[in-house]
This record gives sequence, C-alpha cells and structure tokens, in this order.
Amino acid sequence: MIIRNSLRTGCIASLWLLVVFLISAVPSYPWGSAGHDYVTSAAIEAIPEELQPFYKKNSRMIIALAVLPDWWKDTHRADESFRHFINLEYYSTMPGFTDIPRSFKDAEAKYGRKNMINWGVLPWAIVERSYRLSEAFRKEDLEEIAVQSSILSHYVADLHMPLHTTKHYDGLTDAQDGLHGRFEFEVLDRFVSSEDITPGIPPIITDPWESVFSWMIETHSKVDALNQADIEARAKTQSYNAAYYDDFARIAKPMAVNQLSQGAARLAALYTWAWTKAGKPDIPAKWAPLYWDDLGAKKTEPAKQ
Ligand SMILES: [Zn+2]
Repeated sequence: MIIRNSLRTGCIASLWLLVVFLISAVPSYPWGSAGHDYVTSAAIEAIPEELQPFYKKNSRMIIALAVLPDWWKDTHRADESFRHFINLEYYSTMPGFTDIPRSFKDAEAKYGRKNMINWGVLPWAIVERSYRLSEAFRKEDLEEIAVQSSILSHYVADLHMPLHTTKHYDGLTDAQDGLHGRFEFEVLDRFVSSEDITPGIPPIITDPWESVFSWMIETHSKVDALNQADIEARAKTQSYNAAYYDDFARIAKPMAVNQLSQGAARLAALYTWAWTKAGKPDIPAKWAPLYWDDLGAKKTEPAKQ
C-alpha cells in the first residue's frame, strides 16, 4: 500500500484544519474547492440509482471532504503531496507514454521510489483508493464508503487538471507564472458554474489501471493548448485584467467545463466499479456515522436515522 496515512488521524486533523480554514483567507487548493465540489456533486447524480439514496443522504459531507487530501498536504506534506500530480515527462519520452508500467510495483522497480515521489504518483493513488473504496463496500462500512468516496473524488478531479500532469505545472516560462491559479481559480470563479458540469453517462470500467492511465494521457494532451491560450491572451493585454480573462476563457472555459464533466463521469464510473467489484451490496440510505465528540473519541453509533 502506498498510502500510509491513518484515515482517522487525517480526519481528526482535518476537523481542526476546517476550523482554521473557516477563519482564514482562502488557501490555494488545486482546482479550488469549487472544482472539487462540482466533480463530486455531479458524480453523485451520475451513479447507479441503487447507490444514490446513500450518496444523496450523505452528499454534503462527501462533497465537503473532497478537499481533505489538500489539507493533508499541510499536515502530512512529505507523505501526501506527491499523490496530487504526475510529471509525465520524467516518466517517459515515448508518444502516449505507453511504456509507463501500470502496476505500482512494476513502476517502482523501473523508476525507483525516490524518483516516483519527486515525479508524482497521482494515477496510482487513484487506483489504490478505488480498491479501498471497493473494500469499504464489501464490508458495508458506511463511514469508510463516505470518506473513501471523498478522497477518491479529490484525486480524480486532480487528474483532470492538465497542469497536474506536467512538469510545467505553472506554465512553460517564468513569464507565465501564475497560470495554474489563473486557470483553476480565476476561470472557474469568473466563467464556470455547477450547472455547466454535465457528466453524461459514465463509462464502464473493466480495468481501472487502463482507464485511469488513458484519462491521464488525455488530460495531458490539453497542456499545450492551455499554455498557448495563456500566452496569446497575455500578448494582447498589459496585465492579467478582464480583457485577458475574456480572451483566455475562449479556450480555458470549455476546457475546464469538459475536464470537470469528464472527471465527474469517470468518478461515478469508479464508484460503480468499486461497488460492482464488491458484489453490489445493498447500501442503505443512512447517515455515515462520522462524528467525534472530542479528539480521539469517535462515536461509532450513528445518530437516530
Ligand atoms: Zn489535490
């Protein structure tokens, strides 16, 4: 297992961080929290109807905790930050990156763990969390299903942000500094709303490794167009002003909408895959009993339904 963090320790820490978050300036989250909200809520609408009662009952919590892995980057940076990106150019120079091993074990044997930590392991984190979600379904553990669904959502959304798949994560040159934020914060804030996110029918997943890797490579193929749109829009303006964003958004808005919609559909597909692999258990429309009355004293009994 490549993820060593204790889920519950992370959750407890996150409750404190939630307090900090609510009283501090908006921190820098990949995709912004809006992007993670959009992907999670749209995925919940796209899952099979057998799963919807549980997910809808717990949707506010599942959506809210989709930013949890970014909080972990503050509390467990050395253990967590490399799960949010992959610098594909370091892994392979082959067109389509076809020589990157799908299994983490094979990849580790080829590249070495230290390099993988430096280059990012996002696709492997997604597959690993998909299996953990499936195990939660198998155990019919409502708390675990909810929290693993949130965490998986976070990484799937990150995988659909083109700049999370490249070593040029903030633009090709110093002149483009800030591209990351201009795309995932400003474009979303100015031009995208939840109604824009339309996942459509989720794909059927038979092999999560192949699916996740193909999504990653497709996302990476958007990097050049995003850079080009930024460079061209900036060349026409004196600063990153409204005119710049109007121009940049001609490419960046449909790209963001498409990536978030695709991310939502594929997240729904992974939820479905995990549930199917677990034998499609009946998951009741009950609250997931995620509650602490003080640190370390989690109550396992749900409130009266
Ligand atoms: Zn992230």
